Amino acid sequence: MPKEVSLEKIVSLAKRRGFIFPGSEIYGGLSGTWDYGPLGVLLKQKLIDWWRDYFVHQRSDMLMVDSSILMNSRVWRASGHTETFTDPLVECQNCHNRFRADKIDLSICPNCSKKNTFGEARNFNLMFQTLIGPNSIQDQSLEIDKNKLLDLINHQSSDLLKFNLNDFSSLVNPSLVYLRPETAQGIFTNFKNIIDSIYPDIPFGLAQYGKAFRNEISPRDFIFRSREFEQLEIEYFVRPQEWQKHFDQWVVFIQDWYQLIGLNQKSIHLLEVPKGDLAHYSKRTIDFEYDFPIGKEELSGLAYRTDFDLKNIVNFSNKNIEYRDKKTNESFIPHVIEPSFGVERMIMAILTEAYTEEVMEDQSSRVVLRLAKQLAPIKVVVSPLLKNNQPLVDKAFLLFKSLKKELKFVLYDDNGNIGKRYRRADEIGTPYCVTIDFQSLEDDTVTVRDRDTTSQERVSINQLIEYLNQ
Ligand code: ATP
Repeated sequence: MPKEVSLEKIVSLAKRRGFIFPGSEIYGGLSGTWDYGPLGVLLKQKLIDWWRDYFVHQRSDMLMVDSSILMNSRVWRASGHTETFTDPLVECQNCHNRFRADKIDLSICPNCSKKNTFGEARNFNLMFQTLIGPNSIQDQSLEIDKNKLLDLINHQSSDLLKFNLNDFSSLVNPSLVYLRPETAQGIFTNFKNIIDSIYPDIPFGLAQYGKAFRNEISPRDFIFRSREFEQLEIEYFVRPQEWQKHFDQWVVFIQDWYQLIGLNQKSIHLLEVPKGDLAHYSKRTIDFEYDFPIGKEELSGLAYRTDFDLKNIVNFSNKNIEYRDKKTNESFIPHVIEPSFGVERMIMAILTEAYTEEVMEDQSSRVVLRLAKQLAPIKVVVSPLLKNNQPLVDKAFLLFKSLKKELKFVLYDDNGNIGKRYRRADEIGTPYCVTIDFQSLEDDTVTVRDRDTTSQERVSINQLIEYLNQ
């Protein structure tokens, strides 16, 4: 059963409690950009740490790279992005609003409701462009770089008609670079460096996380479709004949991951992408879809990219990047399985899954984020029962300082009454609230209240850290 929570409630909580804010809001915003506040940063960092732990450090076949966002524009020609990384764009002849043709009902304009107003869709490239270097302004002159032109003709089967605007502008302007639309290419371009420096045994994977940028035609649905977002990607290099076996293993490994971070298995759906809809580089793709408040949509992807990328790099760079098997001495270009995750979509799924409204025994209501404890931005809130009683305050603050040293993600809160503090802690998913009361002054025990059950236990301060860590 999909979780019944509206997107508005999640957006509102995210803003109210300092998780996620609209980008540049004070100047009227910038469409498709979002800023993480103090709690959002913690949630995101904990998610990335956990991902890295699960997908890299707990395995013996994974390594990491961290490549530049700005890359030589040949990277994007070789990978096919300048030519094919496009979405179909249509424009309403009446109100001149533009839309992604595959996401709307084309019989009527979603903005002005005019019927039959769209012409032919054209391909809109999603890559952001910028200029690099101090000569970038002069370089905008229309002087053609002859070597690059030859290079392009050689590698595009002399079919000049294949030129698109991006190829052309990079010919006339050698300063043109792109903001990477995926982190994957930074892995492929370092493949040779890795095999020459680390000599990993095949199969092995290279992981990278970082920002990616796409000039989405219609950014929408909170952080789901942003223009700047974060990806976590793995390129897993295998012997060509073994790709199927590894692909199947990755499906299970990814399913286990989603269970681990607290997503309901029933809300995850595997979509075998039909052959006709596959990306230009893929021979097989499974989309992991999730029941978001906006409907069933892609959460992450798993693609069999064959040797598409490495072969293109060989063609465009004229470098030999074959992998040589140490045991058999056999040389070959590995095939690639690519699990590809988006941080924003995972966070949106996690918030959707965790958001719960409850009526309590005393008929009061609460909002509680039932986050996996490992993801909770704040682990413990420490409070004195009364904020105007000095011995309680002193003892609570002392305990706060010592817990903070050990557990880091600890908050001191003495605002309002204890009930209100619990509600505030529930709303941001804090698993434990520790209260110093009058008994604490006598016997060095505290009450620990559990977020999920709301039950309270008395625990000795001596054993508190052990208790909280369990
Ligand atoms: P979609 O079809 O929804 O546009 P995609 O198939 O183009 O997504 P991929 O290129 O497979 O996406 O990117 C891998 C992952 O990166 C996606 O599964 C998603 O989690 C994330 N992602 C892609 N585009 C965006 C975006 N605009 N905003 C946030 N996350 C994104």
